[in-house]
Amino acid sequence: MNIIFLGPPGAGKGTQAQRICDALNIPQISTGDILRKAIKEGTPTGLKAKEYVEAGKLVPDEVLVEIIRDRLAMDDCKQGYILDGFPRTVPQAEALEKIANIDCVVELAVDDENLIKRLSGRRVCLNCGATYHVSLLGDRTTCEKCGEPLIQRKDDAPETVLNRLTVYHEQTAPLIAFYESRNLLKRFDGMKGMEEVYQSIMETLGAKA
Ligand code: ADP
Ligand code: ADP
Ligand code: ZN
Repeated sequence: MNIIFLGPPGAGKGTQAQRICDALNIPQISTGDILRKAIKEGTPTGLKAKEYVEAGKLVPDEVLVEIIRDRLAMDDCKQGYILDGFPRTVPQAEALEKIANIDCVVELAVDDENLIKRLSGRRVCLNCGATYHVSLLGDRTTCEKCGEPLIQRKDDAPETVLNRLTVYHEQTAPLIAFYESRNLLKRFDGMKGMEEVYQSIMETLGAKA
């Protein structure tokens, strides 16, 4: 199954996508993770993307479409995948329609007040993409999955978070209507606990499989 996860920054896309990909044995394609890795390694894509990512702006569509075209052509995508963080604009969604058949769009809805709390306490592993929240970490400073140190993303700083929420409402939220009109959208209440959200998504995907 080819699935898109759609929702504002902090909605829980990465958290849920990682777990569901493990359960379904399909790859999680997180464009944020791909860009952060490219920036860290200083690749040509990373150099192009750096200033946008750090300012909480969207990286130009053509850069993202090229990344996704290359990634979806890889062998491990044949059995399906979850796109986490792509598409984020209508032009990206239109480009995707030309190269992929999407079966389901999972929308996670969370209000802005909660998003700000989640993002300000988010800690991530840059090595494997695992995501945590300080409220649940206790004394832990390393990743449970791979042992690498956990960090706070620069773009999770309060000023940048507000920017990213505005960008979401202006440029990404229109995709809700885009996929509704194609009968692909499934909306979930992302304010519920992680376990409950996971169960309801799995139920819906199970029914579609
Ligand atoms: P979050 O998990 O908070 O929603 P991501 O990790 O998905 O954030 O993305 C981080 C940043 O990477 C974005 O703010 C943006 O700069 C860039 N980015 C990721 N995906 C895209 C995309 N599809 N189009 C443009 N920029 C993107
Ligand atoms: P996204 O990928 O949509 O930006 P993340 O999965 O990174 O969101 O989650 C953002 C933050 O919120 C993380 O700190 C994560 O631990 C936390 N989080 C995720 N899902 C929930 C939930 N259902 N309830 C409370 N906190 C959550
Ligand atoms: Zn890790």
